[in-house]
Amino acid sequence: MQVHDAKLVISAAEPHQYPSTDLAEVALSGRSNVGKSSFINKMIQRKGLARTSSQPGKTQTLNFYEINEAFRFVDVPGYGYAKVSKKDRVKWAKMIEKYLTTRDNLELLLLLMDFRHAPTALDIEMKNYAESLDIPYAIVLTKMDKIKRSQYPKHLSIYKKALDLPTVDALFPVSSATGEGLKDVWSIVEEFI
Ligand code: GDP
Repeated sequence: MQVHDAKLVISAAEPHQYPSTDLAEVALSGRSNVGKSSFINKMIQRKGLARTSSQPGKTQTLNFYEINEAFRFVDVPGYGYAKVSKKDRVKWAKMIEKYLTTRDNLELLLLLMDFRHAPTALDIEMKNYAESLDIPYAIVLTKMDKIKRSQYPKHLSIYKKALDLPTVDALFPVSSATGEGLKDVWSIVEEFI
């Protein structure tokens, strides 16, 4: 997709702040530092629009980005940052739950995970949660430029097994450094919006 317009419409913590449901939404989640901001920026070709995390775990709002006035990317704050208090973790979970369980125009969830490592317990939990809510999802495996090409099959099979997937079709390796793999993610996004 050629992105000619991308803007942050609102950072929202509460449902009454969400934008109207007239546009399809594609939400993105992942643990802090997985490369979510870099991925969003690279997808929409806007260098600094989604902030790269100087303070991981800090942003506790859903950021709604409107793309080409046609659909929205919804940036879900990262999870799994060790220094976040229990209270903030509960707050995070409630915010995500409210959004994921009630948003009728949520069409697709992109679950970002680090291709270099096996999925974390929280990564697996997010995937199971999406499945339990019947939300279509795809798994975006970040930082593919950091591992050798010859290692891809091994890492894909680790993910397939750990996430209990029937095939590797839902796995999308990407690099926000080189742009590799982004076209495939756009194809799946376009199917859902
Ligand atoms: P976020 O916390 O999930 O938003 O992660 P960021 O986008 O801030 O990225 C965390 C770190 O990983 C930063 O230092 C990025 O430059 C780096 N990073 C993100 N994506 C990639 C990638 O595809 N390749 C490489 N080599 N580094 C990446």
